[in-house]
Amino acid sequence: MNNQHKDILKENAYLKRLNKELLEQIFHDDFTQFPWLGNLGRWFWDVSENVVTFNPLKSEAIGYSRDELPDEIGFEFFTEKLHPEDYDHVMDLMTAHLKGEAPVWEVKYRIKAKDGSWKVFYDRGLVTKRDAEGHPLFLSGNVFDVTVDAFDRQESIQKTRYWKQQAQYDRLTNLYSRKELERQLHIMEKNGENYSLMVIDIDYFKNINDSYGHLAGDSVLKQIGGIIKSCARETDISGRFGGDEFIIAFPQTTKEQAHAVSLRLQDEIDDLTFDLPSKPTLSIGIASRFEADDFTGVFELADNRLYQAKNAGRNQVVFK
Ligand code: GH3
Ligand code: MG
Repeated sequence: MNNQHKDILKENAYLKRLNKELLEQIFHDDFTQFPWLGNLGRWFWDVSENVVTFNPLKSEAIGYSRDELPDEIGFEFFTEKLHPEDYDHVMDLMTAHLKGEAPVWEVKYRIKAKDGSWKVFYDRGLVTKRDAEGHPLFLSGNVFDVTVDAFDRQESIQKTRYWKQQAQYDRLTNLYSRKELERQLHIMEKNGENYSLMVIDIDYFKNINDSYGHLAGDSVLKQIGGIIKSCARETDISGRFGGDEFIIAFPQTTKEQAHAVSLRLQDEIDDLTFDLPSKPTLSIGIASRFEADDFTGVFELADNRLYQAKNAGRNQVVFK
């Protein structure tokens, strides 16, 4: 071995020690930086040699201790564990950044841990050195484990969706709840649409409960709810206003057209088999947008007509 060769080896050993020392310091700093954000520390990617140097926290987060891995690791060690649905997106963003089309590589992806579970990483990196032609030589980045965040958020989105759905629909009949009815009717009125409004109430419903039990009453409500749904069009707004009272709003519909629907409703009830000795009947009141100043006025008019129908002996429709 000549002297020059010896010098190179000495220099190499010195640089290795220095490199190790600097990395240890950097990785130690990572521990103290934003640990509450799930900071997994910094990473470096030597592009031409394809060697990734990373804070051991990054591999430990997916279940691999640094000691069990080879000294030199290429980027594939991480990318081959990406969720198939995230793979192309992650790679496309990296390609764009390497080409200089995006100022930074910043992405969130799912990555498979050793035990098969999925972790969510938020990763950010930058080309820190390019050659004379602009080809990337070296990248440096920082990665965070945001799994808890991501799943928490997912869970809370699902919960919100669930409660929204619960609030939107009446549990028994699956028609719109009173709250949702009010919301949609308010929008309809704000849009200045012409409409007719139908208020429907089951006759002597209390007797059904009293004679055959609350569950029999529930099943009558369900059946009648089903008929209301089937008689209304997609564009109509139908819901359970409360107890045994239902509402249908018919946008762009005259009172006479709504009256025709009410007769069909009564016919359908008449055709249906109920698990009761006698069939329930409906009393119905109808009013239109043209008959009052605002929605409250239209509703009051339809409700008054419903009570006229009750007083006149029930099982009838009043629309004038
Ligand atoms: P009318 O012909 O005058 O409308 O007489 P009615 O007996 O139908 O009138 P009333 O408003 O007194 O009765 C409504 C009943 O509906 C009273 C209430 O106990 C019952 N009810 C309200 N909600 C439910 C429910 O979810 N399930 C069941 N089974 N009954 C309900
Ligand atoms: Mg009733």
